[in-house]
Parts: sequence; structure tokens; C-alpha cells
Amino acid sequence: MYRSHNCGELRMAHIGQKVTLSGWVQKARDLGGLTFLDLRDRYGITQAVFNMDENAELCLEARKLGREFVVQVDGIVRERSSKNASRPTGDIEIEVSALKVLNQAKTPPFTIEDDTDGGDDLRMKYRYLDLRRTPLQNNILFRSKLALETRKYLNESQFVEIETPFLIKSTPEGARDFVVPSRLNPGEFYALPQSPQTFKQILMVAGLDRYFQIVKCFRDEDLRADRQPEFTQIDCEMAFVHIEDILNTFEGLAKHLFQTMIGKDLGDFPRMTYDEALSKYGSDKPDLRFDMSFVELNDVAKGKGFGVFDSAELVVGICAKGIAESYSNKDLKDLTEWVQRPQIGAKGLVYVKYQKDGIKSTVGKFYSDDELNDWGKLFGAEEGDILFILSGDAEKTRKQLSELRLELGRKLGLMKAGDFKPLWVINFPLLEWDEEAGRFHAMHHPFTSPKIEDIPRMLNGDHETMKSLRADAYDLVINGSEIGGGSIRIHDRELQSKNFDLLGFSKEEAEAQFGFLLGAFEFGAPPHGGIAFGFDRLCAVMNGQSSIRDFIAFPKNNMGRDMMIDAPSDIHDVQMKELNLKSTYTKGN
Ligand code: ASP
Repeated sequence: MYRSHNCGELRMAHIGQKVTLSGWVQKARDLGGLTFLDLRDRYGITQAVFNMDENAELCLEARKLGREFVVQVDGIVRERSSKNASRPTGDIEIEVSALKVLNQAKTPPFTIEDDTDGGDDLRMKYRYLDLRRTPLQNNILFRSKLALETRKYLNESQFVEIETPFLIKSTPEGARDFVVPSRLNPGEFYALPQSPQTFKQILMVAGLDRYFQIVKCFRDEDLRADRQPEFTQIDCEMAFVHIEDILNTFEGLAKHLFQTMIGKDLGDFPRMTYDEALSKYGSDKPDLRFDMSFVELNDVAKGKGFGVFDSAELVVGICAKGIAESYSNKDLKDLTEWVQRPQIGAKGLVYVKYQKDGIKSTVGKFYSDDELNDWGKLFGAEEGDILFILSGDAEKTRKQLSELRLELGRKLGLMKAGDFKPLWVINFPLLEWDEEAGRFHAMHHPFTSPKIEDIPRMLNGDHETMKSLRADAYDLVINGSEIGGGSIRIHDRELQSKNFDLLGFSKEEAEAQFGFLLGAFEFGAPPHGGIAFGFDRLCAVMNGQSSIRDFIAFPKNNMGRDMMIDAPSDIHDVQMKELNLKSTYTKGN
């Protein structure tokens, strides 16, 4: 028997019991005649003690153990004389009577403790060591439980878990595909799914009217800290539903997950249209942990002789509460430089400070105190507040102000850990005009339905009309992160063809790429819609973390490399030949 108990289990109630524990040596300390060993496994850390006076041979053996050796100890549980209140097992220790080394270990390349000194790539190369650390173990356990709770909720709501293939034909979700050459079909390729979108729609045609899958998706994009080339979605689809049914079902799922996993009652989710989100927060995924919504000042700020505002398409601002007295000139200068950084790109920052001793503003020359007081009223500003105002091209200015709002939220501590603010953003545009390419893109994906009332305009309208079409598409946003997104789908062949047409597919192209779906729509496709949640991101957001990497057992780095197995890598010439691939690329070129 390797163990009678695990390393996180023993308490005062076990005192006097003979036990066997196995685990890794976290740390060893020699104190005079005693040697202490911290023994670690997935469940916790237990202290083992060796006494020189009582058993010198055993004690000397213990002193030879290095960090991360795998050992087994037999001994008696006894009360500790100096207790460690920060550890659940901190009241007891094991008085060791036998020690067995199960395996030795080289000195690890970084410390395996809650806070480690290892850089990202090193930790990924030795992922098995990184995964021994408690914070990562907790993340992986959290993820496993989140998947279980998801299955539980969806199962109780009659959803069926169905696997869809990984070797498919490209599904357009807006990213590049990863492709896999087919040996049996020379010169042809599979694509790895960017999502199971078309399959889940086909399942609705098949009558399996509530589908879900916790599924890997693959997108060949440039990577950021919160993106991975392969990531996991909770992918769902329902038939015979309106938008309301979907929002309610999945609001229920999100509430269930937050309640059972972290004990948070999210309350009912507010809803906001895409247009409102952009005009109030400059973003389609606003962080609602704090308000600071936009107020547009065109009517009051233009035409008073301040050229910068006069020539701007939009003058818009936010109000930061209660910082006018404490925010120094240096702070204002830093903030101005911050918005002028190329990543933000504002030309300048106008402020209006409402202080005890009067109003101070960068534009005081152009506007009277009365006028500036009237601006304040539009924001509901009081003494002690500061308005920050940007101007210029409307779209760009909104984006810049959105960044500034978030920066202030961070600086002023308004995004509190443990605070969760969900939001449904609805009524996204159906199509996005790409000026450079001179064509429309689907804002969500090509299978998304326009709002019913917009269908006649879609079928008969001119080019400009198409830009104003609204879709039955929605995103679930929590604390400024897009957690999920989906839409009601087109289930009518004609309308789907029209959409492909608008997106620049010729009849032949549409038929070649999506003939199977269009065909299925001719055999009784029910009205349907769905959603997909970013599973990795949900894990991170629920834990108040920004990077999804630490919730993935084996993530890839920013270059899409798996540092542990060293992939991607070359393949043998034989394999290349078999796959009918010719090498046109030489390393280093
Ligand atoms: N397939 C979509 C996505 O991956 C989600 C959906 O429309 O259900 O974003």
C-alpha cells in the first residue's frame, strides 16, 4: 500500500494513528537533532519529522532527500508543538518510523511553490512541474468541475451531448483554418473546425432539438495572451426557439455556474443593444462594474471658437467622480500622455475640474464658467468631479474614450475583484462593410438571421440599406469580457442564398462550400438558434484572471508552439511524399 491517507487529510482527530503517506518532497529543513520534511500531493502538504536521537540512521537518510523526490513514509500522527495555522494539516505532523524513496528527482529548473520564479516558456517546457503548483492544480480542478456543472445543467434541460467531426471542410468564422492533408485523397485537405457551426445546425434539421458539446475549436490567428490556437467552447444549439428562449436558457446556465462554482448570485442580466453599448461605452463589450458612461457634447461644445472641437465629428466625455482635489497636474499630464500613446492615438485630452475654489479647465479660454457648469450638469457632475473629453472622428474617438474609461476604472480601483457584472448585448449589425476589400463581411457568421422585421429590406434594399440591417445576434459579456456569442439562424434556403450573395459568394462557390447545408434546408429545417461560450475564458473570468493559459493543462506560447513536445516540427520526407506534399520552404529562408 502506497498510502493510507493523502497529504491534505490528517487532522487532530487522527492523533495516535499509524499512517502511510506518499508524495513529493516540497522542502526539507534540518533543525538541530530534528529533520522536517514537507510532503506534498494534490490534496495538500503534511509535515513529517525525523528525530536524530531516536533513529539516527533514518534521520541521516532523510537528510539526503532532494526537492521533488518521491517518497513514502510510515509513522504515527502526533500534535505539533508549534502549529501552522495557514495549513489545514498544520496542527499535526507525522513521527516517521520508515522511509522509502520511490523515485529520485533532478533539481527542478524553477521553484514549485505558489509564487514561482520561472519564466513563461520555461514553465511551459516543464509543464508537468508547473502543474504541480497549487494555483495551477486549483485551476485545473476548477475547470473539471465547471465542465461537470455545465453537463449537469444542460442535461437537466434535455440537451444531448453530441460529438461532431474534427476533420471537416472549412467553416467560416472569420479566422484562418488549420488544414490537414489527406493521404487517401491526394492534393486535398481537411480543415480543423473553427467551430461545429454547420454540424450543429444540421443536427437541428435532424430533429435533435437541443444539442451541446464541450468541444475543441481551432483558429489560426495571431496570438495574444488571451487567445490560443486551440481552445474550448461550450457549444449549443436549440430548435423551435426565439431569441428570448435562448437568452433565458443560457442566462440560466451562467447563473447556475456562478452560483455552484463560486457562490455568486448574478441576478437578472441587463440587456443593451449594440448601438447603445457603442454610444454609451464606446465598446460592444462594456465593463459594467462601474458606470462612467459617455455624454456627447456636440450641441454645447461646438461653435464657440475652439477649433479642435469645431472641426471634430464627435465631442464626447466621461465624468470621474470625486478625484478633482486629489488628482494632481502631474496625474493629468500622465493621463494625457497615456491617451496620446500610439496604441490609443488621441491628439490631446481636455479636462474640466470642478473644484471647491472654482472650475479649472484646459479649455477655460473658450468657454465661460456657466457653460462649463452646464456641461457638468449633462454628466450629473458635482463638486470634486473631473470631466475628461476627447474629440475627432466619431468611431475612433469612441474607441479611445472607451480605453480611457477602462484605464481610469483600473487606476481608481473601480473594477473590484469578486464583483461580476453580466450583460447581454443584442441586435448586432448583420453585415460589416469592409472599405478596403470593397465587400461585406458577416458580423457574426454567414448563418446568422436578420431580425424578422429587416428581412424585406434585406431582400429588396439597396447597398446602403444593407449596412443598416440588424441581426438576431447576441453576446454575453461579463466584466468587459466576451464570454459567449450566438444568433438565431437563417433556416430558409432562399434567405441563406441571398446572404451568401451579399457576402460575395457566387452561386457556384456557395454551392461548393455549403451545398450540404442549403440542401438540408430543403428537407424541413426547423427554426433554430444557438450560442457558444468560451470555456477557457469563462474559467479565467470566474477566477478574476485575465489569461486563459493557466486554465489549460497544455497551452501553446505566443508563437503557437507547444514548448514541452516542441511542436510544430518537421516531418519525414517519407511522410511528405505519402501526403503528396512538396517542400517549398527551407528553414531559415
Ligand atoms: N459558432 C459561433 C462561434 O463560435 C457561435 C454560435 O453562433 O453559436 O462563435
